[in-house]
Order: sequence, then structure tokens, then C-alpha cells
Amino acid sequence: MAETMIPKATAKRLPLYYRYLTFLANAGTTKVSSTELAEAVKVDSATIRRDFSYFGALGKRGYGYDVMDLIKFFKKILNQDKLTSVGLVGVGNLGHALLNYNFRQTNNIRISAGFDVNPEIANTIQSGVPIYPMADMVTQLREQQIEIVILTVPTDAAQAITNDLVKAGIKGIMNFTPLRISVPSYVRVQNVDLATELQTLIYFLQHYGPTLNDAELGDN
Ligand code: ATP
Repeated sequence: MAETMIPKATAKRLPLYYRYLTFLANAGTTKVSSTELAEAVKVDSATIRRDFSYFGALGKRGYGYDVMDLIKFFKKILNQDKLTSVGLVGVGNLGHALLNYNFRQTNNIRISAGFDVNPEIANTIQSGVPIYPMADMVTQLREQQIEIVILTVPTDAAQAITNDLVKAGIKGIMNFTPLRISVPSYVRVQNVDLATELQTLIYFLQHYGPTLNDAELGDN
């Protein structure tokens, strides 16, 4: 199929398109023009039309593109490319930093959906990523087939959210909270406790000094 022959530059833009189209679909928008898309994703409309032409003549002049059709196409292609979509729960300071971190530079990873309890941030787009209210979390994770989630919420909210993540079918959690969350055996948890790591480093420096390098350890 033509999908396997799309240029690399086009493939790289797909998550961008997909992300925005999903946002439009969730907002109930059924049609979108290449000009509207161009403004939203900051890619010029000629490039968008050329990119979309690789998937067949999906757009109609004066009518635009069918949002759901495009999403269906992109879903298939993105899965084929083995791009891993990751969810982010808790879009605070750390969450924002992770949203801005370019995981895709070295890996086929992207944060495709964020979730937060704060009504000021829910239903907005942050760093190009749609943020959903917590009430939509389970449904969105299932619909977007997201199996991995980054958890950057306050400690006291971590376990209850984890239970919902398990319900949503999540397979892996990157846990940035200091809490050792409980999960069923089929869910893998990777703990990243930045404060503890930093304290460990400080402790070692205070008690043992810097690590001796090979030259210092050598016999000359
Ligand atoms: P951090 O640097 O850890 O992100 P912060 O000061 O920005 O800290 P926190 O209070 O740790 O904010 O909360 C992180 C994010 O988690 C916030 O955006 C907050 O709105 C969100 N949050 C808090 N409680 C919940 C919850 N129960 N469910 C989902 N998100 C929550």
C-alpha cells in the first residue's frame, strides 16, 4: 500500500496533524480546510495538501477534509510506524517541562494527550498537546490506544489515578511521584524520583567526594 512509501518528512508531520485532528474531533468538528490546519500546526498549507495527497484525494475543494477519515488513515499509519503515544497525567511544572521535551528527536515517542484536574488547563492545547479533564481520561486513553502514561500529579492523588489508569488498560507507568504505587503484576512501573536522586548525589559527594577516575586509580 502507498502508506509504506510516504516520505520521511511527511511521516514526521503526521503526529502533529493527528494530534490536532483528534482535538478537532473531540470538539465535534467534522471538516477542516488545509488553511485552518496550516494555522493550527504551523505547517504551510501547500505542504499539508502535498502530505495529504500521499493518502489519496481526501480533500475536496471548498469543502475541506473529513476529520474522521483523516484520523482513521493516520491511526493506521502511525501504528505501522510503531510510534508510541504516551499520556501525561498532571500538567503542572514538571508535566509542562515534559510536554516541551522533544522525545521524538531520538525515539518514536510522543506525548499525545495530557490530563489535568485544573479547569484552567483542561480543554486547552499546551505545547501542541490537547489537555483533557480527568473525567475523560479513561475514555481518551482507550480511544487513543495509549498504553503508557507519565504520572506527574501530587503524591496524594497518585494511587487513585493509578487505579483508573489500570482500568483504562495502561501497561506501563513512568511514575514521577515519590509514592510507590500499587499495580497488578501485568503493569510495569518505572519510578523516577528526582528529589531522591539529587539527595543521593549530594550524600555521595559529601561523604565520598567525586568519583576517582581511572587515571587517579592507576598505579603511576
Ligand atoms: P510539579 O512540579 O510536581 O508538576 P506543581 O507545583 O506544578 O508541581 P502539583 O501540585 O504537584 O503542581 O500538581 C501537578 C499537576 O497535577 C497540576 O497541574 C495539578 O493541577 C494536577 N493535579 C492535582 N491533583 C490532580 C488530580 N487529582 N488529578 C489530576 N491532576 C491533578
